[in-house]
Amino acid sequence: MTPLTEILLAQIARSGPITIAEYMTQCLLHPKHGYYTTHQPLGQAGDFVTAPEISQMFGEMIGLCLAQAWMDQAAPARFTLAELGPGRGTLMADILRATKGIAGFHAAADIVLVEASPSLQSQQAQTLGSYDVQWANTVTELPEQPLFLVANEFFDCLPISQFIRTNHGWQEQMIGANDGTLGFILAAHTPTSVFSDAPLGTVLEVCPSAVAITADIARIIGENGGAAIILDYGDWVPTGDTLQAVQNHKKVDPLHDCGASDLTAHVNFHSLSEAAKPFAQVSGLTAQGILLERLGITARAQTLATQLHEKALENHIAAHRRLTHPDEMGQLFKAIAITPNGATHPAGFET
Ligand code: SAH
Repeated sequence: MTPLTEILLAQIARSGPITIAEYMTQCLLHPKHGYYTTHQPLGQAGDFVTAPEISQMFGEMIGLCLAQAWMDQAAPARFTLAELGPGRGTLMADILRATKGIAGFHAAADIVLVEASPSLQSQQAQTLGSYDVQWANTVTELPEQPLFLVANEFFDCLPISQFIRTNHGWQEQMIGANDGTLGFILAAHTPTSVFSDAPLGTVLEVCPSAVAITADIARIIGENGGAAIILDYGDWVPTGDTLQAVQNHKKVDPLHDCGASDLTAHVNFHSLSEAAKPFAQVSGLTAQGILLERLGITARAQTLATQLHEKALENHIAAHRRLTHPDEMGQLFKAIAITPNGATHPAGFET
């Protein structure tokens, strides 16, 4: 049993079942035993591989897309270049390398990384050693100036709540304890008026922090200019129970070994879009594969391929396929872009 499982069992024995949101927060970000506090999650040697860790081409495409959006908005002389949940710092490093030649872009950028994990902050500092970078704990610390932002696989690790339609109406899915093990249990009472009715057994997931963060970003962009690119796995409206745990590249039981696996849920892009709309416009949902193709990933892949041979060339071709093919990440991962009302949508996005 992990130390965090013991802590949570003791807490539940003391004060009763906890919500899934509380469980996710503790498992991912507990200051001593949380997954992002204690693990090096990313990469082949970690538990999962993200798009920027698959190939430099991902960050290059996103960087050029953000730089084009900056130019489309008359290249403001001071702006925030931000990333939410930057992991090892690979994506921001590739964005900065790809945009080095764009006149004035680096000179105008205040680079801000929003990162909750102190150990990942220090890894990001190493990766981005040659750049002047600041860290923020939340988006509420972002300055009031144009904001060009990317978030890749950030929203999926924000805490969700789950509600299930039963004979008694909507009941919240909680986590309790039985014989010294954690287990799911339904809360007795949940206010039923909040959700419309649905067939018995329907699972509804909500992520209040994703909504709040998106509204904060959209407000800054609506009032100051900028563009936010949000990429993740999920759907316009995901259905069913999407809570999952991944350890060593395999799915595992989300209630087992607390703090030792990555916990995520699919992103509800419709709810992000609704959160942004009072402040700014939102592009249509665009599949990652289509977005990267439109941004020119295949031409870039061909250029890089001319310098590669044998195993390195094979890996490069596989990486291009993995990022774009509908059977791999191309369709599962999707993106939206937030820009000020009336602005040009960033390159590659559905309007
Ligand atoms: N974007 C990176 C890493 C994704 S993993 C990539 O594509 O490789 C998720 C990242 O979000 C990690 O850096 C994690 O520490 C960070 N994170 C998770 N919850 C957070 C929160 N509530 N606030 C800020 N950062 C958070």
